[in-house]
Amino acid sequence: MSHSRGQVRAFRGAYVTYQGNPLADDQAFVYESDGLVVVSEGLIIAVGPATAELPDLPPSVPIQRLKSHQLMVAGFVDCHVHYPQTQIMGAYGEQLLDWLNQYTFVAEQQFAHPEHANKVAQFFLDECLRNGTTTASVFCTVHPQSVDAFFRAATARNMRMIAGKVLMDRHAPDALLDSAQRGYDESKALINQWHNKGRNAYAITPRFAPTSTPDQLAAAGALWQEQPDCLVQSHVAENPSEIDWALSLFPDCRNYLDIYDRFGLLGKRAIYGHGIWLSDAERMRCHETGTALAHCPTSNGFLGSGLFDAHKTQSGDHPVTIGLGTDVGAGTSFSMFQTLNEAYKVAQLNGHAMSSIQAFYLATLGGAKALGIEGQVGSLSVGKEADFLVLNMAATPLMRFRMQTVEDIEEALFVLMTLADDRAVEKVYVAGCLANQDLNAAKN
Ligand SMILES: [Zn+2]
Repeated sequence: MSHSRGQVRAFRGAYVTYQGNPLADDQAFVYESDGLVVVSEGLIIAVGPATAELPDLPPSVPIQRLKSHQLMVAGFVDCHVHYPQTQIMGAYGEQLLDWLNQYTFVAEQQFAHPEHANKVAQFFLDECLRNGTTTASVFCTVHPQSVDAFFRAATARNMRMIAGKVLMDRHAPDALLDSAQRGYDESKALINQWHNKGRNAYAITPRFAPTSTPDQLAAAGALWQEQPDCLVQSHVAENPSEIDWALSLFPDCRNYLDIYDRFGLLGKRAIYGHGIWLSDAERMRCHETGTALAHCPTSNGFLGSGLFDAHKTQSGDHPVTIGLGTDVGAGTSFSMFQTLNEAYKVAQLNGHAMSSIQAFYLATLGGAKALGIEGQVGSLSVGKEADFLVLNMAATPLMRFRMQTVEDIEEALFVLMTLADDRAVEKVYVAGCLANQDLNAAKN
């Protein structure tokens, strides 16, 4: 690399960023056609219109000038993804519960072997980077070595990553089961080893209520109370058969979300995948507790799970914080563009159009907020970590052709979320350092 981490550098060109949720604040969306982003020591130290920022920039600071078809945005945030499922993407024919048994639980057993875990973690993180995803909240497997391999690989790339060991003490193959006590002990040891070390954060990760006994969920809740700045991640209300099963296992609970509620697993920094079939009362409880949901449209379509209503969930008097998840390996793409593409179609099937302004919010600052890390990443703001992308809006012949008739930035963003993929991610900066140069060579 030609620059050191501490050197001040500036990037001049168009950018899009957010100062808040555009659903709640019509000033939240920011577009500068000629902007300046200044980074030093891995942080953003100045950002604004070039005309306003240039007078304060020491002449010695090198300025990279973007081209007219390039656009800077904050790095994408994937709020729900399973790295051990990378190799079962595109597994045919089943819905959730059969898909877990036939494909997932088979693939996850291989992560007892540290070399396998390491190999998949490396590939997964490189694929995230190639797609412009600089932060993700990641499920590992039941094996502590799967978490070690993941955080080791994330640390080598200096990416802000959240991950946790899956807790399962029933209804899975023996090789994938821990126990309430062992799951607690192993999670606690992993927290001591990895949480808040570098850019890593730990998420206490019960897979979902049906694969944990009440004792295990109680232990997970107790661990969160001891370590309240960790996250909690799990799944809820993805598929009707799953909901029936969960309620049959916890007959005293009023609804699916109530299972987690009773064990102290709702609150800020708790994020649940899917929530497609939550009732009004359950959404209200998410609102009251600050619990977030991860909308995973490519996965929901692939497994035939249903249509998450992002509009209803985020609007009204009791909005719920949501982010976007690829949910690889049930999800069909690492690309946040393609995830937005599918989110738009799901919104249409629910009777609403998701605006590109709202969509890119969810892919960046909204996702960071859902994970409780909006103070560190998610926007181009002074003091934030310099995780950002240079997008090529003319990356393919079709995109170049289509962009010729685009009238404003909102339309350009909408074309991006409809037509773009990893080819549009030209440069990825992680804590101010270019992180995708070798990966791009491998792409060609
Ligand atoms: Zn999932």
